[in-house]
Amino acid sequence: MPNLTALSLLDASDGLRAGDFSSVELTHACLDRIQALDAVLCSFLFVAPESALEQARHADQVLRRARREGAPAVSRLTGIPVAIKDVLCVQGMPATAGSRILEGFLPPYTATSVQRLLDAGVVILGKTNTDEFAMGSSTENSSYGVTHNPWRLDRVPGGSSGGSAAAVAAGLCFAALGSDTGGSVRQPAAFCGVTGLKTSYGRVSRYGLIAYGSSLDTVGAFARSAADLQPLFTTMAGHDALDSTSLPAPVPEIDLGRGDLRGLRVGVPREYFIDGMQPAVERGVRQAIEVLRSLGATIEDVRLPHTDLALPVYYLIAPAEASANLARYDGVRFGPRRAGMDLLAQYLETRGALFGPEVKRRIMLGTYALSAGYYDAYYGQAQKVRTLIKQDFDEAFRRLDLIACPVTPTTAFGIGQHGDDPLSMYLEDVFTLPANLAGVPGMAFPVGYDETGLPIGMQLMAPSLGEPALFRATHAYQSVTAWQKERALR
Ligand code: GLN
Repeated sequence: MPNLTALSLLDASDGLRAGDFSSVELTHACLDRIQALDAVLCSFLFVAPESALEQARHADQVLRRARREGAPAVSRLTGIPVAIKDVLCVQGMPATAGSRILEGFLPPYTATSVQRLLDAGVVILGKTNTDEFAMGSSTENSSYGVTHNPWRLDRVPGGSSGGSAAAVAAGLCFAALGSDTGGSVRQPAAFCGVTGLKTSYGRVSRYGLIAYGSSLDTVGAFARSAADLQPLFTTMAGHDALDSTSLPAPVPEIDLGRGDLRGLRVGVPREYFIDGMQPAVERGVRQAIEVLRSLGATIEDVRLPHTDLALPVYYLIAPAEASANLARYDGVRFGPRRAGMDLLAQYLETRGALFGPEVKRRIMLGTYALSAGYYDAYYGQAQKVRTLIKQDFDEAFRRLDLIACPVTPTTAFGIGQHGDDPLSMYLEDVFTLPANLAGVPGMAFPVGYDETGLPIGMQLMAPSLGEPALFRATHAYQSVTAWQKERALR
């Protein structure tokens, strides 16, 4: 029997289809590894062994029937154990969004993205750790403990989907879902050396995703490679009547291609190579761009002149939308309640005691930016600048297929390093925020390691609905390199 948790998703799927092992065995292997490692990593907030094994037994029946009856196509995902970031609702499992204010909340329904995976036969191992309400870049803002980076335990895994990224990197599951509002899939993918996809805004339904910044929120996924991500993307994507911003575009066929990138035009924006970035990151990304060139892609300079405005614009728009979205947590409708003298006191006590400091900071910022007399100066102005940032991308994609750049200025930083300085943490997001403001998709994947052995990530961005080009280029890169095959904690 091979070491099951070391397999790629596609190899695991091949093994299941061939009957080399069962989904129950695969699920046990993941559960055992979670048991062995997650007390230290803290990537899961909730593990569901019984329902996972139940789903695995069902998948085994489907796989057996398919083998017996000459395999009418079963999904690539049938019987594959995955994990779900704890901002997505799954019926029967608690959903906390990393916050005490949702402790004990059991959602009465399942997010569309998750439901589509379940319909395809995945096994859900449990829910993964996240910064509270997905606000953060390190998973340190979770109210339920800090997740550790499997490559170096004194480092953060990135955030806010740090639990999902760490779980995939440590081989606790074959893939995991995350959400990306300003980088929360791409940045932890880069820090943990796995492949992460941020989908186009509206490509995957937000129904059942606990809202943070509604005009920026997207559902994405982590796996070890682009090839492994493909079935997740095509299964989750597509219109959903339950989300009014879901795009009616058909789900594209993803052709991973044969590794030939001739005809592909890739732009390299000089605004993404800034002073003070870690030299190993710049070196790694520039080498990876040369690999794309050697595969036939044309590499060109491109200007995205409003890039440096993305940070102030995002940190107005996201908190403003969050302040509205988080108004519903009042101790009446969800989760625990703190008693007060009257209704207002009850709201204040509950929100005061159960929201963490970063969430409170953003609610205050956002409420201020939206208040009468300041709205035009802050939120209104930020929306205008957002349009300029989007126009940079529109202009660039008139002649380019992809943009290639770093995901982050540094590799994974230390736990506690940005401790009491939220602004320095916000600066970690400079290269990921623009894609959310423009609504375009992005892929992050490992392109090397720094001198201390921490993964370096590269980001590709495409025009809205341009996921097929992201898959094709990332897969071509991963066919001639092997960074994505390195394993943490082996
Ligand atoms: N780090 C960013 C923030 O704190 C992005 C988080 C995210 O994408 N959810 O808002």
